[in-house]
Amino acid sequence: MNLDGTTLNGTTLPSWVPDIEDKPAPMPLLMVQSFVNTLDADNHTDRLARDDDARAWLAEAGLPYANGDLNLVREVRESIRALIGRDPLTPDELRPLETVLASAQPRLEVTQAGQVLLIPAGQGASSVADGLMHLLLIIRDAQADGTWDRLKLCGNPDCRWAFYDRSHSRRGAWCDMATCGNRIKNRNLRARRATATATAESHDHGS
Ligand SMILES: [Zn+2]
Repeated sequence: MNLDGTTLNGTTLPSWVPDIEDKPAPMPLLMVQSFVNTLDADNHTDRLARDDDARAWLAEAGLPYANGDLNLVREVRESIRALIGRDPLTPDELRPLETVLASAQPRLEVTQAGQVLLIPAGQGASSVADGLMHLLLIIRDAQADGTWDRLKLCGNPDCRWAFYDRSHSRRGAWCDMATCGNRIKNRNLRARRATATATAESHDHGS
């Protein structure tokens, strides 16, 4: 664990951001991105696999986890990954979010400074659903301010890392061009060559 935080271009990222994160979203969307990236499919690591490790990560990120249901937390993680993927959600992907909504509701609060805030209703009650609701509220704000559109899943189906696309064209498709980008492009190239060879051979046999 890196309590000093990860350093990127001179900016220090919070300790709950994966050390390998090089395309971080702005706060607070970074929290949603880091939550999804607690599962690193490429390196086969999962910060939410074991109870003690999950508890430590959630505490670092400021998400309550009292008597938490770790299965629900992991299911919500995959539901949010599906949200980032932009495909319509399956009933299985929608269900964990509905479970959260059934046990935590947001409410409006007006601060002395005149800000109108939407916060988890049971904030302070430290239920795991409140923490997950907090993530859903961050997503809602990001969808409203447009930053959500830049949070994407890596196009490598074996990776599916959530990355923040800061490119001017907004057409970034890979968490990392050198690894996933080239890996998939080479795979597609080999597939095209194999198809071309097979087609050429079938033509040869046909003549
Ligand atoms: Zn990737």
